[in-house]
Amino acid sequence: MSFDYDLFVIGGGSGGVRAARVAAAGGAKVALAEEDRYGGTCVIRGCVPKKLMVFASEYAGMVEDAQAYGWDIQAGDFNWGSFKVKLHAELDRLEGIYRNLLKNNGVETFDQRAKMADAHTVELADGSKKTAKHILLAMGGRPVWPDMPGAELGISSNEIFHLETLPKDMLIIGGGYIACEFAGIMNGLGVKTTQYYRGAQVLRGFDDEARGLVAEEMCQRGVDLHCGTNILEMRKEGDKIWVKATNGDERLFDQVMFATGRAPNTDDMGLEALGVELGRKGEIVVDEYSQTGVPSIYAIGDVTDRVNLTPVAIREGMAFVETVFKGNPTPVDHDLIPTAIFTQPEMGTVGLGEEEARELEPIEVYATSFKPMQQSFAGRAERVLMKLIVSQASRKVLGCHIVAPGAGEMIQLAGIAVKMGATKEDFDRTVAVHPTMSEELVTMKEPVRTA
Ligand code: NDP
Repeated sequence: MSFDYDLFVIGGGSGGVRAARVAAAGGAKVALAEEDRYGGTCVIRGCVPKKLMVFASEYAGMVEDAQAYGWDIQAGDFNWGSFKVKLHAELDRLEGIYRNLLKNNGVETFDQRAKMADAHTVELADGSKKTAKHILLAMGGRPVWPDMPGAELGISSNEIFHLETLPKDMLIIGGGYIACEFAGIMNGLGVKTTQYYRGAQVLRGFDDEARGLVAEEMCQRGVDLHCGTNILEMRKEGDKIWVKATNGDERLFDQVMFATGRAPNTDDMGLEALGVELGRKGEIVVDEYSQTGVPSIYAIGDVTDRVNLTPVAIREGMAFVETVFKGNPTPVDHDLIPTAIFTQPEMGTVGLGEEEARELEPIEVYATSFKPMQQSFAGRAERVLMKLIVSQASRKVLGCHIVAPGAGEMIQLAGIAVKMGATKEDFDRTVAVHPTMSEELVTMKEPVRTA
């Protein structure tokens, strides 16, 4: 049977674009459909614009620090309008790069929605049908928020990059990556920021001591964080949004943002009819090679809800090409993935948290928390944390957790050692780089506790 293409990819985000262009570069005939902008969540409404906003939000504090270091400078006002113009010009530039990558590798693109018609056929929004030997589903995910009175008055992280003006008062709901990162950003940009999180401590699932310090520092910097608090009801009151919370508070905000999780984009894709299995959240169920139960259909990235991070989607896309087009079956390794949360201060983490590790085996915990030189000189009370979780039996470092400015950069490197199976003694025989914050990772002599 002959097909229009060797591969049809649905979704032009990080994973889909990578798989499409690498397969095409290897000689496959490839097409890709994207209904929105190329680059997907990461480039257009996630990691990239978010990080640029983190950078923007950090300047206010830098002026104070510079003054403490003897510079005679004053902070002016933050101009959201001029920043926003530059931000979107940068996103346009990046989208152009993604489009060019596809074009230069000979991938045919369709700027419209696509859904599955049968195991080898995709139907485009204009009604045309395209056949392919293999189909890769890479539609990503979207923000979801609770169904409650007035919820439509809120926004999600998709809309935050498009605000006409910065709000004076903002409420952020949630305690995950997105909520905590935007609480820091908005607070840094001068917005009076309140955060409600329903659980006992934000960043559930990460090491308790690390997330505790992040929360403490967020509050120290001015975020009005309320744990054990959720939102009950919202309604419009003049220009403001009136919000009633579970703690009894009734308050007015200019803007309310929900960061209450994301759902895979599998609605109305024709998947169930084909027998492609979906999980409880609507995620596509795949095996270790990203293959669904329908042999010609594969899925990668957030639409599979495995580890929802751009570099993971890219890995999954590369492994798919290796498996399907290079005859080299390659499972995706989801173990020991380093990650950073761009809160202020940042958190970088790889491996097991203390609570998780001690459930599995006897451990030693090495940790130190201190005021870093640069901020301490500037008169800030800010503290950082360097923490290692070590297996008593194998001596391997099972987890490394860093809360500090630049923790994302540090954990990328520590992640190599942990991934290689480095022991505590390997860390110890590495000479310290002085004076740095991360040198503490190789100079901690005694465990603070065993468990
Ligand atoms: P998360 O799943 O991380 O967090 C969702 C938060 O919303 C949790 O605190 C959750 O509470 C809370 N929540 C869920 N439902 C409700 C509800 N009905 N009412 C109130 N609160 C609710 O999702 P995010 O949206 O923050 O991020 C999605 C994913 O995107 C992340 O998991 C991550 O994989 C990725 N991401 C990665 C980033 C990075 O690498 N730096 C940055 C941003 C996103 P509870 O804990 O109680 O369940």
